Amino acid sequence: PSRYKNCKFKTFIPQTLYQKRALRLCKEFFKLYPFVDKGLVLYGPPGVGKTHLAVALLINILKYKGLRGRFVDFRNLLIDIKTTFDTKESSQELLHRVMEVPLLILDDVGAERTTDWAKDILSTIINYRYTNSLPTIITTNLTFDSPLDDSFSSRFGERTESRIYEMCKLIRVE
Ligand code: ADP
Ligand code: MG
Repeated sequence: PSRYKNCKFKTFIPQTLYQKRALRLCKEFFKLYPFVDKGLVLYGPPGVGKTHLAVALLINILKYKGLRGRFVDFRNLLIDIKTTFDTKESSQELLHRVMEVPLLILDDVGAERTTDWAKDILSTIINYRYTNSLPTIITTNLTFDSPLDDSFSSRFGERTESRIYEMCKLIRVE
C-alpha cells in the first residue's frame, strides 16, 4: 500500500531500546530468510513502528530474495471475505490464497471487532501455517502478558495463542 512505501529499515530511527531491538531482530530475520524456523509477533501500543518494521522486512525480502510474500491487513481481510461470502467458493479461494503465501504479514490483528467468526478465520490461518511450516509475521496492539481484555488470549483463545508462541518469536515494541 502507498502509505507504507517509505517504510524501510533505513528510515526507521529507533527511539527506545525496544525499537532498537525490534529493528535488529527484523533485520536478522531478513538475512536468514527463508531459513528461519520461526515467524515474528511485533506487539505493543499504536504508533511505535510495528507496521513500519513489518513492511520494511517484506519489501526487502521481495526485492533482495525474490521470494513471494504478502501484506494483509487483518481487518480488511475479514471485510474481503465477507464481501465474497455469497459466492462461497471464492471466499474460500481468497482465504486459501492468503494462507498459502510463503511469507505472510498479518497486520493489526485485534483491531477488528473480534467475533467468533473472526476468531475462526485467524485460527484457520494460523493452523494452516503451523501445519505447513510457513513463517508468519503478526503485528498487534494486543498484549501477551496479561489476562486483561486487550490480551491476545482473551480475544482469540488460548489455543491460537499457544500455537503462536510455538510459531513465532514475540517482540515487544514500545
Ligand atoms: P504501529 O504499527 O506500531 O501502530 P506504524 O508503524 O504505523 O505504527 O507507525 C506510525 C508512523 O510512524 C508511520 O508513519 C511510521 O513510519 C512512523 N514511525 C514509527 N516509529 C518510527 C521510527 N522509529 N522511525 C521512523 N518512523 C517511525
Ligand atoms: Mg500498525
